[in-house]
Amino acid sequence: MLQRSMIPLRAAASPAPLPRNGKQFHIWTIGCQMNEADSAKIAATLQEAGYTATSNEQDADIVILNSCVVRQAAEDKVSGKLNSLLRLKRERPEVSVVLTGCMVTNQQDRLREQFPHVDLFFDPSDFAQLERVAPEVSDLSDDLSELPHYYADPAAGSSSTSAFVPIIYGCNFLCSYCIVPYRRGKERSRPVADIVAEVERLASSGVREVTLLGQTVNAYGHDLPDTPGLANLLRAVDAVPGIVRLRFLTSHPKYMSDDIIEAMAGLRSVCEHMNLPVQAGDNDVLRRMRRTYTRDFWLDRIQLTRARMPEATVATDIIVGFPGETETQFLQTYDLLEQARCDKVHLAMYSPRPGTLSARWQDDVPPDEKHRRHRELEKLQERIQSEINAERLGKTYEVLVEGRSKGRWTGRTRGNTLLHFDDDRDLQGRLVDVTVTRTSPWFLMGEPVSAPR
Ligand code: SAM
Ligand code: SF4
Repeated sequence: MLQRSMIPLRAAASPAPLPRNGKQFHIWTIGCQMNEADSAKIAATLQEAGYTATSNEQDADIVILNSCVVRQAAEDKVSGKLNSLLRLKRERPEVSVVLTGCMVTNQQDRLREQFPHVDLFFDPSDFAQLERVAPEVSDLSDDLSELPHYYADPAAGSSSTSAFVPIIYGCNFLCSYCIVPYRRGKERSRPVADIVAEVERLASSGVREVTLLGQTVNAYGHDLPDTPGLANLLRAVDAVPGIVRLRFLTSHPKYMSDDIIEAMAGLRSVCEHMNLPVQAGDNDVLRRMRRTYTRDFWLDRIQLTRARMPEATVATDIIVGFPGETETQFLQTYDLLEQARCDKVHLAMYSPRPGTLSARWQDDVPPDEKHRRHRELEKLQERIQSEINAERLGKTYEVLVEGRSKGRWTGRTRGNTLLHFDDDRDLQGRLVDVTVTRTSPWFLMGEPVSAPR
């Protein structure tokens, strides 16, 4: 999955400064973009209630951890972070420690025993619970979209060049390895009008790029009265003035309809980038993963996308070392990646998650072998990305400038490739055409060749 930080852009029209209550909060986030979006909303809520964000947990009156349990490694990091806060809590018992995110759902009793120094556990999206550590939150409207500063205060997170907008929560699939449906529940889509209103407010505060989010983002709308569908939503959001780039993730191959691909190809703002996790290249492994499609079906979706949008880039997710995955089956995944030539692959080693179907099966690919398979695909993908990027040398791409990194401007092409360049002008949040002068497997370097827009 794509990871990025949101870099503030000056607000178009800031309302009067909010009264501050002299207290500070710190948020630590791990996991997917949905968690990042939730953290931005928590930050906005607390700021609206008078709190100030701090990047230093030592200074904070409230420390919030937003957790992930998709893999054991993520869960271990959260536990480590929680344990490290014990010292802070001993030194300053008045500090409130809060845990939210996927680790919390249905686990509160166990967690309370394991981490007695945590003051509040709350389920993702049950933001009202915050008032138990920040009483001022109870005076706010339940509907965050009515809070003007959410859209106009850069420090709130969402008022930046790029913003994440969740459009569907939960997941109706039951992939045999995945814990998400147990923690995020069944799919619930937000009405089109609510999403469009939110995007309009983001646009009026200076946001130029919106990424629509969901665990199965392209299942959007099937649970709404007139079943609008993602293609219709893309058309509605594309019409919002000021939004120059529109993305969506993560898509499930089964729902990647011709209709959505046509909408992508035809709409001005929708970027030519498809994030379509395949997970494995062997049909028997896919069947045991309960993915509900075959290797050829996934390839067909990619091929149609490229046929309609020759510039389209593709990202995917792969799990290596799934229970029972033989060397021959692993080589099928290797072969699929060689054939598909994706621009980005998120590789993961299988991690059994308690409560899921595959956790009942023997985790029989030894750790060393999982590491080897991971390394093999990493090497393959590095070669493919270096070849793909080498072909970009001398070409010119439109870049949306997200901010500065190591003394240079940095942004992304419509295909989501990172591109860095030098320029003395203030280009934050601007569109600039940049000609590629140097390439690497991971990013491009270039020279600006147009006036900023
Ligand atoms: N909904 C998306 C899909 O259908 O592919 C993915 C959501 S999942 C939270 C993000 C990624 O984590 C998955 O694509 C998968 O590669 C990885 N993942 C999920 N469960 C895993 C597990 N038990 N072990 C290793 N990786 C896992
Ligand atoms: Fe997990 Fe599968 Fe749902 Fe994705 S589609 S969130 S992998 S259960």
